[in-house]
Amino acid sequence: MIDERTLRAEVIATALAMNAAGINRGKSGNVSARLAHEGFAGFLVTPTGMPYAALAPEDIVAMTLAGEPAGGRAPSSEWRFHRDIYASRADANAIVHAHAPFATTLACLDRGIPAFHYMIAVAGGDDVRCAPYATFGTQALSDHAVAALDGRKACLLAHHGMIALGGTLADALALAVEVETLAEMYWRALQVGEPARLPPEEMAVVLAQFATYGQPVRCG
Ligand SMILES: [Zn+2]
Repeated sequence: MIDERTLRAEVIATALAMNAAGINRGKSGNVSARLAHEGFAGFLVTPTGMPYAALAPEDIVAMTLAGEPAGGRAPSSEWRFHRDIYASRADANAIVHAHAPFATTLACLDRGIPAFHYMIAVAGGDDVRCAPYATFGTQALSDHAVAALDGRKACLLAHHGMIALGGTLADALALAVEVETLAEMYWRALQVGEPARLPPEEMAVVLAQFATYGQPVRCG
């Protein structure tokens, strides 16, 4: 079992990697990891308003699933959707929220990502939904996000950004990068025309393949 200080350092490393990967810029976005040990059920989340490069492990905020912060820093303004995802999704041990440029471009058009490419199945279904807009930091936004994530591990947030979750911080970050890649390809295809969708029966085959191998498989 990973110790809390190591997990705090991994949250920082993931936030830095998110920006280095080009899926987020500046202080936007946030990263969290589930923290559960005897007598505590909650999560660690990046604080609000601090550059990731300036973060030390003690700056990461521990919060209970009741939304009570522990420590001196204020949590990310988006702590509500982190809390609600951990409370409702046993498969979520880490969450990456990014204002990824291509995913957010689609989200600004109120568009999710359809099954234009088989790798859409990496997010758990035959599309990545776009949650309706609500003001950042609100319970309404959290409610929309949890609904859009039903049966999925990623969603877009209208006029805002994207969320990816995973069993580990590495999984959540890798999924966020994959969703941004799909968003870019879909956006590029839209410059020429609306791409055809893979039929549900083919997506069922792909999803079954992913489930069989326990992890996303791809050609190559
Ligand atoms: Zn945001």
